[in-house]
Amino acid sequence: RERTGAGADADRPPLTVLAGPTAVGKGTVAAYVREHYPEIKLSVSATTRSPRPGEVEGSHYYFVDDEGFDRMLAGDELLEWATVHNSHRYGTPRGPVLEAAERGEAMLLEIDLQGARQVRASMPEARLVFLAPPSWEELVNRLVGRGTEDAEERARRLETAKVELAAAEEFDEVIVNDEVPRAAARLVELMRGGE
Ligand code: 5GP
Repeated sequence: RERTGAGADADRPPLTVLAGPTAVGKGTVAAYVREHYPEIKLSVSATTRSPRPGEVEGSHYYFVDDEGFDRMLAGDELLEWATVHNSHRYGTPRGPVLEAAERGEAMLLEIDLQGARQVRASMPEARLVFLAPPSWEELVNRLVGRGTEDAEERARRLETAKVELAAAEEFDEVIVNDEVPRAAARLVELMRGGE
């Protein structure tokens, strides 16, 4: 196959979506990729939630209010969007994704399952990667260990996680998040066109 420069590698998928059940560590793996693999572009989502300490506008998220989010929707600016955990809205700005695809640059989207399904529908060529916990027990431990939810909320999330785990079969690849550096390396390997 003919290659015309780094941007035109036909083996390299233009878009990779990382999704998985709640508390599996998607955000941690994405943060590791951001820090250790600067050549991988990460999509910056818009969200209606408030910034956490250390989060930088335009780098981790675009923080918008409800009106701002409505405007993005009205302008058809989002490739996908979802209300996550029944609270805030999150969405992927379409422009940067299309630009990266046009340039043949690998881009990573770390989004929830609802969003992954929307990307599958609108960009069938995207690679969907499911981040799985090493075991169900491990996922429960992580949910409980965070200590941020009360018992009722925890039960609700576990119920959700059970349904979410079954979604793995809709994905092209499954990566087990046993160790973050290993999972990140595997993800990057896939994005570089490895098998
Ligand atoms: P957090 O508020 O902890 O940063 O993210 C909460 C959840 O929102 C995570 O599961 C994350 O994958 C998801 N998320 C972040 N950005 C997007 C997005 O643009 N679209 C969708 N559908 N989900 C997102």
